[in-house]
Amino acid sequence: MSLPPLVEPAAELSVDEVRRYSRHLIIPDVGMAGQKRLKNAKVLCVGAGGLGSPALMYLAAAGVGTLGIVEFDTVDESNLQRQIIHGQSDIGRSKGESARDSVKEINPYVNVILHETRLDVDNVKEIFAQYDLIVDGTDNFATRYLVNDAAVLLGKPYVWGSIYRFDGQASVFWAEHGPCYRCLYPEAPPPGMVPSCAEGGVLGVLCASIGSIQVTEAIKLLAGVGEPLVGRLMIYDALEMQYRQVKVRKDPNCALCGENPTVTDLIDYEAFCGVVSEEAQAAALGSTITPKQLKQWQDDKEDIFLVDVREPGEFEIVSIPGAVLIPKGEFLMGDALGRMPQDKKIVLHCKTGVRSAEVLAVLHSAGFADAVHVGGGVIGWVNTVEPEKPVY
Ligand SMILES: [Zn+2]
Repeated sequence: MSLPPLVEPAAELSVDEVRRYSRHLIIPDVGMAGQKRLKNAKVLCVGAGGLGSPALMYLAAAGVGTLGIVEFDTVDESNLQRQIIHGQSDIGRSKGESARDSVKEINPYVNVILHETRLDVDNVKEIFAQYDLIVDGTDNFATRYLVNDAAVLLGKPYVWGSIYRFDGQASVFWAEHGPCYRCLYPEAPPPGMVPSCAEGGVLGVLCASIGSIQVTEAIKLLAGVGEPLVGRLMIYDALEMQYRQVKVRKDPNCALCGENPTVTDLIDYEAFCGVVSEEAQAAALGSTITPKQLKQWQDDKEDIFLVDVREPGEFEIVSIPGAVLIPKGEFLMGDALGRMPQDKKIVLHCKTGVRSAEVLAVLHSAGFADAVHVGGGVIGWVNTVEPEKPVY
């Protein structure tokens, strides 16, 4: 599927610009018209970090006329292993300003617009509306769904990428022509199941591999050349040095871009993704079991103490057999700790795994080091173990 160019050509290129972009101009598929389209293009990079660094640098070098940068963070020494748009002397500076200076140094003809703010439901539409295309370089699920939903609601295409250790993924999501991110990933993974790069690490150069795919796709969309990565997911394995492609179909049941959408405006993404505190994330890492694992332990008659930390009303709707109800608040107030057995493995669960991760952090710091929680909670249990039970 080829698509028409996203952007109309600018009126003209200056003599200096013709000289600068000559290696593009002599590619027949780009030519003067393609380069003028890039000049007229407005592209927004969400984040000037691992993926944003190569994306901004190559978009600037390619001659994209207007580059927006959304970034609120400052440059830290630990960023420099991969965020190559920043340098040693930028440590402690605003990342947005540092990125803007690098872009200007690469190509002074680029107009840079800085959005030094955290992207949220109140500003995302206003910011996105100013651009033709968005390049998503975010590293957390809440912002990722926010970017997707805003892009779909505004009818904007965006180029998505993600990186972890030696693995990367990239795709183009454009609901008018193909699937959106929710078609691929309808729900965020339970907290603690997917570690971030800060927890698990990332090979620095992986950012270049995935970032360059994102820029390539951006240029193709803007100039209307080639086959865009719409409806296809690129999966890169640096250790095996393999690129695989997976077809992604538009999901007719997608909550956002499906036939009967249930998400018709922006939502609370922190709640949707079950954003948990850093303590809870740390506690959940390595101490998260699946509902199937819990079922196996129960079938094996393992000596476990299963605690449901939800509220009584939720417990009434649906519960996991054998669970004892002790709401989260009783752990935070401290009274519940005395009721924990010393001789049994404690297993916590809640609805989706957010609250139980928080309680897990309390138990770990109280000395119950081998306590675990159930990733996905009772919802995960119903989905995988007892599908006849109701969900809420
Ligand atoms: Zn969708």
